[in-house]
Amino acid sequence: MRTLLISLASLSVSAAAFAQTGLNSLPEVEFSQLSQRDPNPLSEKALSINPTQWKHGETDHFIYHFVHSYVATPISIEAEFHYRVVAKELERDQPLTDIKSNVYIFERPEDWQQFQGLGVLEKWTGGIHSQGSLFILRNPEQKFSGNVLGHEIVHLVLHRFYSDGIPCWLNEGIAQYISKSARASYQRARGYISKPHSEAIADDDIIPLATLVRLTRPPSDRVETFYDESERLVRFLIATDKPSFLALLDALGRHQPFEAALPRFYPTKFTTVATLEEKFREYAAKDFGTTLQQAEE
Ligand SMILES: [Zn+2]
Repeated sequence: MRTLLISLASLSVSAAAFAQTGLNSLPEVEFSQLSQRDPNPLSEKALSINPTQWKHGETDHFIYHFVHSYVATPISIEAEFHYRVVAKELERDQPLTDIKSNVYIFERPEDWQQFQGLGVLEKWTGGIHSQGSLFILRNPEQKFSGNVLGHEIVHLVLHRFYSDGIPCWLNEGIAQYISKSARASYQRARGYISKPHSEAIADDDIIPLATLVRLTRPPSDRVETFYDESERLVRFLIATDKPSFLALLDALGRHQPFEAALPRFYPTKFTTVATLEEKFREYAAKDFGTTLQQAEE
């Protein structure tokens, strides 16, 4: 983990410097000149809402559709930043294709209202994901709070590495885990004292792992616990053994059952889901400050 944190810090220094100069705003590109087309049917729907408002631009790994470049520019910086963080964390350089992810940035709440009935809103962030594209509402007067944008970007990047999907807890857990760490290092690079914050979960609140790993969406009555617990579980599996975690992720990305994959990649640690749960419950209840030091140093 130390290597990761150092590389995160150096990445964020350049991102922060880039953001502060204000010189390099995202260049606008004519729609017809974009290097790729988004085949997602929601793309056409989005761009048909107030069609004259949309401008377009692209960076190495993303294509953006936006109204104002001063809104899109910081998003593009954060998107590329997170791309590199995820690729590093997954220890992979490139997905198998050069396909870019599309990001649609709405600014007018009334446009967003018109659009949002068309997709499934993620409860945690209010964004909509569909087939590897992201649709978000950005109010230019409000900054995205916390790690919300980072969380969404991690999903986009994960989708490119695992386009056939990974289990919901793993997708949400990795999105929370990486975006929290990345945000903390981004802030440290700007001179803030910041540590990633992971929520402890009381033993009574834990969703049994056998249930958690089967959920296909966050349970509406336990949204917060679901996100916190998924993040902690990812953190625990990584802290226990990073190469095992990456192998498990690949197996789950090939739709193998968790119960069968777990003992294959953690043969000495977790022979069953019950063993994992017993140890995880202890870890989940711990205060994060001490856990982070022990797990990551
Ligand atoms: Zn999410």
